[in-house]
Amino acid sequence: TKNQVKLEFPSIPENVALARVIVATMLAGMDFTLTDLDDAKVAVSEAVSNAILHGYQNRPNGLVYLTITADPEGLEVIVEDYGRGIVDVAKAMEPAFSTLGDRMGMGFVFMQSFMDKVDVDSQVGRGTRVRMYK
Ligand code: ATP
Ligand code: MG
Repeated sequence: TKNQVKLEFPSIPENVALARVIVATMLAGMDFTLTDLDDAKVAVSEAVSNAILHGYQNRPNGLVYLTITADPEGLEVIVEDYGRGIVDVAKAMEPAFSTLGDRMGMGFVFMQSFMDKVDVDSQVGRGTRVRMYK
């Protein structure tokens, strides 16, 4: 059967771990493999971290929206923020590109390698939506 969970939480770093646990717990109760579970955890962590760190620039008063939809055929994860947005999505997704000096710039690369498909919609000053499928 199909299951869907929608979560709204403030942009505090502690909620990265919360999002990981929720996706893992939800998939563990379904027919997903442990590998699928670990992959989804990484992808969710990266997307939620980005929403907090870049979207809301580490300010705690933003809201992050996580929607997980899963059925035996597959998984869809959507992470949305109403933060600063991305100027050039294609460039942002390149390996080792980061607008912060102390980051590896590998978040999108991980999302793409651990999930089958990653779509990013973003508007500067409005926010970002990352949709991932497996
Ligand atoms: P890492 O994920 O390795 O710690 P990073 O976060 O900089 O480093 P990516 O996750 O690949 O690397 O993101 C690349 C860039 O895209 C970021 O540096 C940032 O400029 C931009 N970006 C990503 N997500 C968002 C977002 N939700 N809102 C605004 N900008 C974003
Ligand atoms: Mg990142």
